[in-house]
This record gives sequence, C-alpha cells and structure tokens, in this order.
Amino acid sequence: MSKPPRIGILALQGDVREHHDALTKAGADVVLIRRPSELDQIDGIVIPGGESTTMSKLLVILDLLDPLRKALAAGLPAYGSCAGMIMLASDILDTRPDAQHLDALDITVRRNAFGRQVASFETDLELEGIAGGPVRAVFIRAPWVESTGEGVQVLGTVPDGPAAGRVVAVREGNVLATSFHPEVTGDLRVHEYFAAMVRSAR
Ligand code: GLN
Repeated sequence: MSKPPRIGILALQGDVREHHDALTKAGADVVLIRRPSELDQIDGIVIPGGESTTMSKLLVILDLLDPLRKALAAGLPAYGSCAGMIMLASDILDTRPDAQHLDALDITVRRNAFGRQVASFETDLELEGIAGGPVRAVFIRAPWVESTGEGVQVLGTVPDGPAAGRVVAVREGNVLATSFHPEVTGDLRVHEYFAAMVRSAR
C-alpha cells in the first residue's frame, strides 16, 4: 500500500480533536499546524469548525495568514468545515470588517446564516460523490453558501425546512468545504473523501 497522506489540521482554535480522530480513522497521518514551517510537511490541510473571527486573529498573531494563503494558492488541498468554510471563502457576508480570510474557494458565504430559530439543527442530506446514502449533517451556527463562482461544484444542499435548497457543501479543484460538521458524527465518509482527494493530488 502507498504511504498514508499527511494531513495537517490548523490547530489554533475549534474542534481540532474531532477532526484528528476522524482523519486518523480515515487512514491519514495527521499533524497539527501552529507554525508556518509546519506547512511544508503536509499533503493537505483541514481548517476546523470554531469561530472564524477568532481564527482570523490568531492567524495574524502567529504569522500564519500569508504562508497559509500562499500554500493554498500553490495548490495545497484543503477541507474546511463550518468556520473552516468561512476561512476558505473568497467573500464573507456578516463578518467583522477586520476579519481576514484565506481566499482559496470562489464562493460568497454568509456567517450565522440560519438565523436564531434554526441556529443549530441536524438533517440528513445526500452528497454528490459520496456513496452509501445520506450523511447526518450537524449545523452549529453555520454559514451557508450565498453564491458560487464558475469552477465551483455544489455537492450538497439542505433538503427541506425553512432553509431548503441552501448550498452547504462545495468543491473547487482540491478545495472542499461543508457548512456542517461531519467530524462530530462518527460517519467517516467526508473525511475519507478528502483523504482520497489528497492522495490523488499528491
Ligand atoms: N459561527 C461561527 C463563525 O462565524 C462558525 C460556527 C462553527 O464553526 N460551528 O465562525
């Protein structure tokens, strides 16, 4: 068998441990990323869920913003869940004016888009490219994708309820993002999908 893909997790804030468990079970060699030099050692990176404005501040303080932007621009495969999707986006609505982002995915996201009543909810949804039936999607003060650029493939939408049809999973080249948190469900299929993306990009 070929060597497992080395996948970093941006470990400044958020649900790092859950992604660590899921990626390890999905067969990746997982490393935590807190310094610019650590970016050279990985085949792909996960930006976890958490709080995008806090992550933004920490990226600046730790001098990681520019190196990470450059690594992504050079083609480092990436997966962002929830706040991670916000960080990867090219445009963010309803954020702080000084919030920084990584500009690796040609989408406009709206932060905390589901509003107060449905701020956190769960549903089952089909994801393009993921076999075996719907995945359980856990949304926690999640963003949705307001619009997508030309090269962006929509992988999943909310099936029903007040937000029916909203785009919540996308891929553009080697960059994957979901509004929801597959890392908290024990279903490894999204992490396996990303690990396979990283393998084939390597
Ligand atoms: N609302 C958070 C933000 O704006 C995202 C929430 C999450 O990652 N669960 O960053």
